Amino acid sequence: MPAPAKPALDTSTTAGNYFVSNYPPFSFWKQDDVPEVMAAIDREPKPGTPLGIYAHIPFCRKRCHFCYFKVYTDKDSSEIRAYTNALLSELKTYAEKPFIGGRKPNFVYFGGGTPSYLSINQLQELTDGMKALLPWDEAEEVAFECEPGTLTDHKLKALRELGITRLSLGVENFDDHILEINGRAHRSKEIIRAYNYAREVGFPQINIDLIAGMVEETDENWVATVAQTVEVAPDCVTIYEMEIPYNTTIFQRMKAEGKLVAPVADWETKRRWVDYAFGELEKAGYTVTSAYTAVKNPEKTKFVYRDRLWEGADLLSVGVASFGHIGGTHYQNYHEFDPYVERVNRGELPIYRALTPSDDERLIREFILQMKLGHLSLGYFEKKFGVDPKVRFAEPIQRLKDWGFATIEGDQFMINREGLLQVDKLLHEFFLPEHRNKRYA
Ligand code: SF4
Repeated sequence: MPAPAKPALDTSTTAGNYFVSNYPPFSFWKQDDVPEVMAAIDREPKPGTPLGIYAHIPFCRKRCHFCYFKVYTDKDSSEIRAYTNALLSELKTYAEKPFIGGRKPNFVYFGGGTPSYLSINQLQELTDGMKALLPWDEAEEVAFECEPGTLTDHKLKALRELGITRLSLGVENFDDHILEINGRAHRSKEIIRAYNYAREVGFPQINIDLIAGMVEETDENWVATVAQTVEVAPDCVTIYEMEIPYNTTIFQRMKAEGKLVAPVADWETKRRWVDYAFGELEKAGYTVTSAYTAVKNPEKTKFVYRDRLWEGADLLSVGVASFGHIGGTHYQNYHEFDPYVERVNRGELPIYRALTPSDDERLIREFILQMKLGHLSLGYFEKKFGVDPKVRFAEPIQRLKDWGFATIEGDQFMINREGLLQVDKLLHEFFLPEHRNKRYA
């Protein structure tokens, strides 16, 4: 009998989201559901639920052409101060609510934007204020995203002293021409300088982010970028396949020029590049631990923020446009600077939209997010949700098995390398029908 046909995969890169970071899709979160998160904040937490904090720092030196985040490149120091004060006021309101239930944060994450855009003083004030409200002394991980060109030896030292344990460098590529035409603010010299300082300072974990398929990326250059990554030998390497969401400068240009296909490599090439990078990293002793990451020492190098979130932790998220999850309800803050700051200054929580997933949607969410690890425990889901995932997901599991991407080995549902390289596409097979083929964000 012939093997069942594999799914029709996108070939050229067209506009839209590839990466699935949450479920149900953001486009289904509604303003009408904000009272549900307000009610969740006033309830005691479910016993055993870890608490994390996410702080969004929306400032960057320049806007990268592929960026789809809410970022500002024109704010002066008084506006930045007003913003960090608003973050602290927002956190203070949350810190006094019943959902905290005496918990201290298990993990803290600074994302953006560019958290390292803040000055040492601004960072000290912000983190002192955060610790005074919800102490970090029990946090397993404090992660911090950086743009290499914003880092000095003094700032790196200060970051370590503030308690940062996982430093993540947004390198993306080591070639100056590629960095420049993609609108990145930093150059390769700054990467190496920042990396070497960071090593000297002694962060427990340094991660390097790369993107496969930036504008004008070539086989030759990608090989060189991977070789350079292996040479600097970070603890963790994270590789994303380039996607072109609608709110990127690249898409705006495509629209103006009437083009449907983005000026970046097709999906097959991007998968081949990630596969090549994983292969080279494995040769250098790394272990691939998810669809996007390879780590030098899997025993030591964990990513607590990701793993807790993918197991349904509470995420108290503060800052403009940030996404959180409290007591079973997803929420997102207002996504423009002034409305966000004004609401916080009026003593209101700046929540714009929310959604409370049903039990089945929570099951789908955790299942698809954990699939990105390449293996998940079926027993974990049965115990947590009281549902046998082999029965609930019988059809999509069979499809993935027929396509040669998945196997079941004892308690483990395993996705192989070929499946992992396109996992975000495959996750849609597990979505409820009403969420398929709909705009994601
Ligand atoms: S540094 Fe990151 S957040 Fe800032 S513009 Fe570039 S991609 Fe966006």
